[in-house]
Amino acid sequence: MSSPLNKLPDRYAFQASQEADWQNFRDHLTTTDKLGRRQWVYAKAPHGKWTRRRTWVSWLLIGIMFAGPFIRINGNPLLLMNIIERRFAILGQLFWPQDMVIFAVAMLIFLTGIIVFTTAFGRLWCGWTCPQTVMMEMVFRKLEFLIEGDAVAQRKLAAAPWTAGKLAKKSLKLGIFFGLSFIIGNTLLAYIIGSDALLPIITDDPRHHVTGLTFMVLFTLLFFAIFARFREQACTYICPYGRLQSAMLDENTMVVAYDHKRGEKRGRLKPDQPLVHRIARGHGDCIDCHQCVTVCPTGIDIRDGVQMECVHCTACIDACDTVMDKVGSPRGLIRYASLNSIEKGEAFRITPRMKLYAVVLTGLIALFLTLVFTRSAVEAMFLRAPGSLFMQTADGKFENLYTLKLVNKTMRDLPVELKLEGGAGQLEVMGAKTLLVPAGQLIETSVLIQLHSSALTGGTTKLKVGVYSNGQLMQTVKTVFVGPRKSEAESETKHEHHD
Ligand code: SF4
Ligand code: SF4
Repeated sequence: MSSPLNKLPDRYAFQASQEADWQNFRDHLTTTDKLGRRQWVYAKAPHGKWTRRRTWVSWLLIGIMFAGPFIRINGNPLLLMNIIERRFAILGQLFWPQDMVIFAVAMLIFLTGIIVFTTAFGRLWCGWTCPQTVMMEMVFRKLEFLIEGDAVAQRKLAAAPWTAGKLAKKSLKLGIFFGLSFIIGNTLLAYIIGSDALLPIITDDPRHHVTGLTFMVLFTLLFFAIFARFREQACTYICPYGRLQSAMLDENTMVVAYDHKRGEKRGRLKPDQPLVHRIARGHGDCIDCHQCVTVCPTGIDIRDGVQMECVHCTACIDACDTVMDKVGSPRGLIRYASLNSIEKGEAFRITPRMKLYAVVLTGLIALFLTLVFTRSAVEAMFLRAPGSLFMQTADGKFENLYTLKLVNKTMRDLPVELKLEGGAGQLEVMGAKTLLVPAGQLIETSVLIQLHSSALTGGTTKLKVGVYSNGQLMQTVKTVFVGPRKSEAESETKHEHHD
């Protein structure tokens, strides 16, 4: 009698032939042979609950990723990483080099967040949100399935001689991959220079945008190489996160794991073999069908335990659940689980290490919010004009010349007025009473401050300058006024009065 179990195929000769190699899996990468040559991974398309959930999340993330440079919050980009002009935007907040502390705190939050998540939930980032995994598994690989067929068809096509049909399929696939890489490259460029600066590069005379076009081509070629050739090797060879994970995981971390207590000893299912015989032979629930291996995009066997190559894509969970459904065993032989939950049946718990990381993360977020919401929309810097000390006017007052730098951190033009606080003297912006600082720009001008000798407190006098916009105080800048020592200044003034 035909059993559904007979339908579980053992048709992936490649994986089967490598079974011996899996015994020493930690000694070499599964995607290279003994001579170090690349072994192409023909992953089978996964289907199931987790793949469906990841697909929904991926579409949402892809939408945000491509719309990101065009989304504006209060006129500012959602995300901008303009390294060239040193302008950055996170969630619509513009950051300048003067805001480096805030930017550094934001980066620390990002890194600590990943550490907290990795400690608690393993490589959730890699499987669910990393742009490399999302684009590779949800876009490029799906297109590959559509054009070349499933893993078996792809392997056959690769081995087949070059015919018109093969040439057409390969050209179509690579053409679409190149087009998508171009779009991704342009999106990355828009994140770096801003969408407003990207459009002229595409529409203007190319001779005016040689640098921009060069980067556009480089980014396109880079993404094409990654998604058409490099693929899972970007995760295993280049990405430092995969290598760092071993320092962050512990026995309570939730990872994609094979329940070895339930699955071992693994053994092939014989047609019509009664369950009692399997139990008598000491077999567990794993029927050694390799379905979890055939779907793995990094070519590993999750039954070997936690591995650096595993990007937690959940494909093996779905593959094994399908097998368990067919053999009538409970789902979850491969599942999200911690080592302790498998070995000791312990439920997921927050460990002291996780608590410590969470406290650090909360502190950093609080610091970030405080810095963001207390910073001024306009930042002024007063620098004493180079080479000048002080001057004395005909009526006995003293003058200092300053260079003023004003940064407008918003995306709207701001009128700015300066006032010398405390009424100690006069402040004059050279050439204008009110300054207009263009959106997102830095302007530089000269400022003259005049003090009466009675206002001097010594060789240097501390001053406060109020920076106002539309009547609202934006910032108070502290600076120093250089003059003669007070006694000298008073004697000079007396002299003048006497004369
Ligand atoms: S873990 Fe599941 S999918 Fe993998 S070989 Fe065993 S039964 Fe098959
Ligand atoms: S072992 Fe499973 S979760 Fe890890 S990469 Fe392979 S298929 Fe994805």
